[in-house]
Parts: sequence; C-alpha cells; structure tokens
Amino acid sequence: MKTVIYPGTFDPITNGHVDIIQRASKMFNQVIVAVAESPRKNTLFTLDERIDMVREVFKSQPNIVVKGFSGLLVDFAKAENANILIRGLRTTIDFEYELGLSTMYQKLMPEIESLFLPPNEKYAFLSSTIVREVALHGGDVTEFVHSYVANRLINKG
Ligand code: ADP
Repeated sequence: MKTVIYPGTFDPITNGHVDIIQRASKMFNQVIVAVAESPRKNTLFTLDERIDMVREVFKSQPNIVVKGFSGLLVDFAKAENANILIRGLRTTIDFEYELGLSTMYQKLMPEIESLFLPPNEKYAFLSSTIVREVALHGGDVTEFVHSYVANRLINKG
C-alpha cells in the first residue's frame, strides 16, 4: 500500500490544491492531506475549520484521508509510516523555497522523498492568500474554491 503525504496550511483549500490531490490519488493508493497547525502564520481559519473544509471536499473519496498535525512534518510522516511527500511547484519562488525545505527534510529523515507536481495551468497563479484577499473584499471566488469553502469565506467576511 503506497501512501503519500500532501502537507500544507490550506487556509483555505483552493481548486489548485484539489487538483494536486486528485492527481496524486491516481498515482498512490492513499493520499494523506496533512493540515499543518502553522501557529506562526496567523491563519484566517482555525485548524479545525481548515480540516473540516478539506474533509467536506473529499468526503466521497475514501482513499483521501485528512489529518491535522503540529510540530515537525517529518515526525508526522514517521508516525504515519509514510516517506513520500507531494508538493506543488507553481513558480521559481516556490522552487527555491521547496528545494530548501526538501533538503532539510532529507537531513532530518534520510529515507524521505519529495515529489513535486506542476500546477494545472488553470491554477498556476492561484493561492490561498489571493483567494482570502478577494473574498474579504467581497469578490466572487466560486471559480477558485469548492462551494462549501466559498460559503465559509462569505461567513468570515
Ligand atoms: P504551505 O503553507 O505549506 O505553503 P499551502 O497550503 O499554501 O501550504 O500549499 C500547500 C502546497 O500546495 C504547497 O506545495 C504549494 O506549493 C501547493 N500549492 C498551492 N497552491 C497551488 C496551486 N494553485 N497549484 C498547485 N500547487 C499549489
């Protein structure tokens, strides 16, 4: 059984994340979407809210499991007995940041592998930050997020 971990803050989950998760779920038996507590990020949604939104989006897909975690990602990966991470790579800025992260993960857990997936071109410039900004100023985000997430954003506004 090959399991892959897709970690992130998901504040909130966007269609760009959904696309990566769906593609990963075709390559692996199980995808664990690992929602990071990210206490330093001052998130719009609480950890429980972010987990709830991801669960709602994938509620009919049993091979996509959603879990929250705090602390080091490599400790979570060890606890889940999984050593493959998926990350999305949108821009060269993502690339530099992700290269640094993956190098550190290798130091902390030598058996870990990071796999990078390019975004679907429709979502190449989509980020949770942009979605939050547009939604908080009353813009329509239904093209970029699941309807459940769009409603949660409206309730926050
Ligand atoms: P983090 O705080 O760890 O960057 P995010 O929730 O912002 O968490 O993103 C999680 C992962 O999803 C990262 O690998 C990021 O590059 C990727 N990602 C974010 N948005 C997109 C998108 N539109 N297309 C593809 N990958 C994306």
